[in-house]
Amino acid sequence: MIRDIITLGNPMLRMKSKPISVVDQEIRMLALDMIETMYYANGIGLSAVQVGVLKRLFVCEIPEYHDAPFVLINPVIKLSAAKNAAYKEGCLSIPHVQIEIERSKTVVIEYLDLDGKPRTLTESELPAICLQHEIDHLDGKLIIDKLISEEQRNQLVLQMQDFEYSKALINLVPVVKR
Ligand SMILES: [Zn+2]
Repeated sequence: MIRDIITLGNPMLRMKSKPISVVDQEIRMLALDMIETMYYANGIGLSAVQVGVLKRLFVCEIPEYHDAPFVLINPVIKLSAAKNAAYKEGCLSIPHVQIEIERSKTVVIEYLDLDGKPRTLTESELPAICLQHEIDHLDGKLIIDKLISEEQRNQLVLQMQDFEYSKALINLVPVVKR
């Protein structure tokens, strides 16, 4: 079942998701719905919070790198290596906006799979970026929190104005700290 994706302005996007204690049928159904929703929205990753469920779970599939979707439950970054070159990221919860962000080039992540078994995943390049983006969602963090300069913020505001974001939503973009 395709679920609605919540967008900027919905306070849930700023909340911390809770760990999943038991991987049961309800969680598996949620994961399947999220995969379906991610495909429908043409995304490469989707966190449970984005469909309004505050649980530490996300799905991810990047066609050039994976031949099947991943479901990561209670993911924890165990190791992150040197910074990547910046990559232009979008977010299904902030439509039409792209921001260049620097993240770790390689990450090692521990998580539970859909059978509740502990697993470790090592990813680099775009998959590593996607994993870090989704884990940020579970902690209530968004790409607009990663702005590094006033100039970059101004560019973002222009993008948002072009796509007719309301003033109230544009005001949610954090000010860049010096
Ligand atoms: Zn996102």
